[in-house]
This record gives sequence, C-alpha cells and structure tokens, in this order.
Amino acid sequence: MDGLELRVSPTVSAEQWLADFSGALQAREPARLAGLFAEKECWWRDILAFTWDLHTTAGASAIAERLLPTLAAAAPRKLQLAPGRTPPRLVKRAGTPNIEALFSFETAVGPCTGVVRLVPDRGGLRAWTLMTALDEIRGHEDLAGGRHWQDVDWKRNFGGENWADRRRQETGYAGRDPEVLVVGAAQAGLMVSARLRMLGLDALTIDREPRLGDSWRRRYHALTLHNETRVNHFPYMPFPRSFPVFIPKDMLANWFELYAEAMELNVWTGTELTAASYDQADRRWTVRLKRAGEDERVMRVKHIVFCNGVSTIHKMPKLPGLEEFRGTVVHSGDYGSGLDWTGKRALVLGTGTSGHDVAQDLAVSGAAEVSLIQNGPTLVVSLKEAQAPYALYDEDISFEDCDLLAASFPFPVYRRSHQQLTKKNAEVDRALLEGLKRRGFQLTSGPDGTGWQIMYGQRGGGYYFDAGCSQMVVDGKVGLIQMAAIERFCADGARLKDGTVHKADLIVLATGYQGQKEAVRPVLGDAITDRIGPVWGFDAEGELAGMWRPTGQPGLWFLAGGLAQCRIYSKVLALQIKARQLGLVP
Ligand SMILES: Cc1cc2nc3c(=O)[nH]c(=O)nc-3n(C[C@H](O)[C@H](O)[C@H](O)COP(=O)(O)OP(=O)(O)OC[C@H]3O[C@@H](n4cnc5c(N)ncnc54)[C@H](O)[C@@H]3O)c2cc1C
Repeated sequence: MDGLELRVSPTVSAEQWLADFSGALQAREPARLAGLFAEKECWWRDILAFTWDLHTTAGASAIAERLLPTLAAAAPRKLQLAPGRTPPRLVKRAGTPNIEALFSFETAVGPCTGVVRLVPDRGGLRAWTLMTALDEIRGHEDLAGGRHWQDVDWKRNFGGENWADRRRQETGYAGRDPEVLVVGAAQAGLMVSARLRMLGLDALTIDREPRLGDSWRRRYHALTLHNETRVNHFPYMPFPRSFPVFIPKDMLANWFELYAEAMELNVWTGTELTAASYDQADRRWTVRLKRAGEDERVMRVKHIVFCNGVSTIHKMPKLPGLEEFRGTVVHSGDYGSGLDWTGKRALVLGTGTSGHDVAQDLAVSGAAEVSLIQNGPTLVVSLKEAQAPYALYDEDISFEDCDLLAASFPFPVYRRSHQQLTKKNAEVDRALLEGLKRRGFQLTSGPDGTGWQIMYGQRGGGYYFDAGCSQMVVDGKVGLIQMAAIERFCADGARLKDGTVHKADLIVLATGYQGQKEAVRPVLGDAITDRIGPVWGFDAEGELAGMWRPTGQPGLWFLAGGLAQCRIYSKVLALQIKARQLGLVP
C-alpha cells in the first residue's frame, strides 16, 4: 500500500505493538508509553475501559499522562489480537495507510476490546489512533448470550405461573418501582431499554403517544428513511433481509411494536412524565407519570434516561407579517400529505431534509405551485453519495466489527475523513450542484468543508440528501425564493422586496426543532436543567456533549441520534448505568 512498506505481516506487526504496549502498561513508565505513539499526530479514544467516560486525548505525552493514573484501578492484562474477529489488515483511513488491528484485553471490571492503527514513525510502527472500550461487566454479562432461558424454574412447573403471568407482573409495576425510567419509546428508548434489560436492570419505558411508533407514524406521509437498512439494524434483532433498502416510516413504526414484544420490554404507552425532582441525599428521583385513563403514578427511580427526541419541539420563527396570512401555516412536523393540497399554492420555508421532502410531496401530489424559501446556505448531497460514510459496512467483515470500527475513530480523524468524502461527493454530484447554483440556490459544504455528518453533530441539520427534489428545483418544478428577497409575509402570501406578491394558500415552516434539553425544562424545572450542561454539539475533545455519558446532573442521561448511533451508544449508556447500580464507578 502507498507509503506503507512492511517487513513483516500486519499480524506480526500488530502482535509486536501489543506486546510492547502491554509491557509499557505493566511498567507504568510515561516515556515508554508515549514512545509507542506516532510523533506527528496520534489520538486515544476511551469508551469506559479506563476513564468511565468517553474521552479523546491528543498527543503522545498527553495520552500517557491520562492513561497512567487509571492503571492501578483498571489493572489491564491479557492484551492480544481479538480471537475470532477480523485479523489485522492494511487499510486506508482518512487518506492515511495503516495497519488496523482489533484486540482484546481485560480490566478489573471486565472484558474489553480495542482498535489500534499503526503507521510508520521513527523507523518503526507506532500508534496513530487507539480506541479502548469496555465490552461487559464481569459477572453481569449480557443475557443475550443465551443463558436467560436456561435457568427459569417455571417453564416446566405446570399449574404454576407461566410466561404470560410473569410478563403481566413485570409490566404492571404493582407495588414496585423500576430502577430506571426511560422517557420516550421510539428508537433510542427501545434500544436502550433492550440493552438495560439484557444487563438485568429493571427499566420502565414510557411514551406519551398511544401507540409505539407514533412519533414516526405522525411524520409526513411521504417519509422514507434516508439511510440504508443495512446500517440501521436494532441491537439483538436485525431487520429481515426482505426489508426494503430505505424503510418507509410506517414500516419502521410497526417494527417498534414487534421489537418491544420480542425483547420483552416493559413499556407503558399513553404515559407522560410531567415532573421529576431529585433527592440529593437518597440519590433518587421522584417522578410523576400521567397515564391515559388511569390514576397518576408517582415512582422513585435511580436513573432517568431521556430519549425524548431531538425532533419533538418545533422551532417556530418570528416572521414579519405572518400573522396577517389568511391561509394555513403549519410546521413540517404537523404536515400531513400533499394530497390535501392538490391544486393549491404552497410556500415551504426551510431547505433541509424536511423542507425538500415536503416541497417534493406537494409537487408530485398536484399542488398548483410550490416554492422553497431558502434562509441560508444548505448542503446538498445525492442520496447515493450520502451513503458514503457507511462504506465501512461494505467491508467483508462481521457487522459487530463494523460497529466497533465505526466507534474507533477519534474526532479529528472522523472530521478529516468527512472533509475528504464531502469533496468527493461534490465532484460526483457536480452536475446537480451546478444546476442548483444556476437557479440561485445557495450551497455550503459545511464548516471547513466537513460535510453533513459534522453539521448533524453540531446543529442537527442544515443539509438535504437529494431524493429527487433538487432536480425539481433545477427544472423549475419547485420554485426557489431567497428569504433575503422577501420584505414581509402578507394576507395573500409573501411580498417580495420588488413589490410583487408571491401568492400562497399554505405556508409550511420546515424550520427544525429545539434541542432535547429545552424539551426537558418544563418537566425538570430551571435549576436541574441548568445543571445538566450542554447536550448535543461537540465538546473540546470532539465527543458529543451530554450524550450517552454523564451529565452535570447525577442519575440523568440522554440518548438520541440516527439508528446506527443509537444502536452503538445504547450499549455504552446501559453499561454506565449498570456500573453505577453495582457501585463500580468512583
Ligand atoms: C423528517 C425526519 C426524517 C428523519 N430521517 C432519518 C433517517 O432516515 N435515518 C435516521 O437514522 N434518522 C432520521 N431522522 C432522525 C432521527 O432518527 C429521528 O428523529 C428519530 O425519530 C429519533 O428517535 P428518538 O428515539 O431519539 O426520538 P423520537 O422519535 O423523536 O421520539 C421521542 C419520543 O419521546 C416521547 N416523549 C417526549 N417527551 C415525553 C414525555 N415527557 N413523556 C413521555 N413521552 C415523551 C415522544 O412521544 C416520542 O415518541 C429523521 C428525523 C426527521 C424529523
């Protein structure tokens, strides 16, 4: 491979590095440890194995400095190439050729896995990136290993309780409170709920909607997932191979019901968390649950996991003159189907995914006229090119190894690889993007050209995966107005600065959603909410702030994101809660 000449095989090279690393960990010598990392640039990402948190550390001496104080408690040992997993390979990541090796080791807490990438440095091979992750807590292993069903005493106890009786007791919570309350039973809530259950924790998952999947069911009629099924599997229970490449929203919604049943999750629908207070001395929450058709239930729980969604509270911009508009104003979150607007004129404010999807739906459903209003530059990438970040999942390795590798990139490498992908995507999509520019559409490639993934982590949107609407804009089937050209909204639609009125019967505000933290404020109050700290957006190390890791408020957690993110990090979150329940975290 370019720039990487090997004297021995990747396996022998990786084994040698692991032996040296193991020796340096035993010796606890800072210089020896630092010497194993590349001089020009190197990072270590730890996911609970040494730091009980998610941290990315840059630079050889900083890595040694952070790692050394953890060694007495972690007591790492048995470092070796991970048995039965992808062997060391020569790969190129973010343009850098390297030997990528999966390894396993043990700490005082349990079995761990890691990924190291070795590059030539000072005449040898040194670590360019290192990731270490806790896999399981010894003695409290994931029940999905199959042991769950082997020791049930009632399975042949005729005349006694059967499975259905047990499930009724479990989900009834008569005279007992759960250890964990999960608020929100969409993908994030269901996945973490399954992880918690498989770790033997008693978790109740609630949702204010009457039926599981309603958060997706209620989204606009035309919605189909924008990333492919092969990367969106739920933990423990992958989608059947017969599923379509892009899952329609109602099909996903129905899957939630199947999943909750099959994974035996304790779910209360029609149940809303209305208030929660924290008893500092007892380290427990008192939560008030409003249940449809039943009395309010007050419970005491150790942990609350908010899976209340990043797309729950609509952002409603203040637009001059909008109150004078005589037609219908609706947020994209409440928009139904274009079939209700056949023959009518519509303006759609916002050029992210929802704005484009809604405009396209209106146009193909026979609206007389549809125009997008653009308020700022938008990243556009064709649906095909938008799958590029998932190329890892096309490598001929197990799905489990793909997930491990996906979590193994330190933020600066992840960022660099997205910069490169974004450039490549723009070349492939050149004709489409040129066409949009000719129409006056303002394009961006994200901060420093880092593309949609970084925009998603920073602000949760600002891009469109073109599923056909961009070509409609290019062809003039969907009109385009720049917000800067609008003077104000008026009774008939939008009055432009040149004096013309763009008439409309419907204005759709595809203006996005407020963050998860603002959604919990009415329930938790200002004092607790302000203590939480930032939620979402990258911190100084490039880790997502407040997501699947401790927040400023003990016993309070958040999980959100796309399906793949929820699958990977629901495990990280569940392990942290289990560890706290066991008293393992200092
Ligand atoms: C239009 C659109 C398209 C998207 N397409 C994709 C895609 O293609 N691929 C992808 O990976 N992601 C996609 N996403 C992003 C993300 O996957 C979804 O937003 C997803 O719904 C997030 O799941 P969630 O579990 O975090 O929250 P949500 O689905 O938003 O669910 C939150 C749940 O919490 C409940 N809740 C909130 N507060 C309370 C309370 N106090 N008490 C009880 N219940 C409460 C709500 O009723 C709701 O059911 C899309 C998002 C949108 C808006």
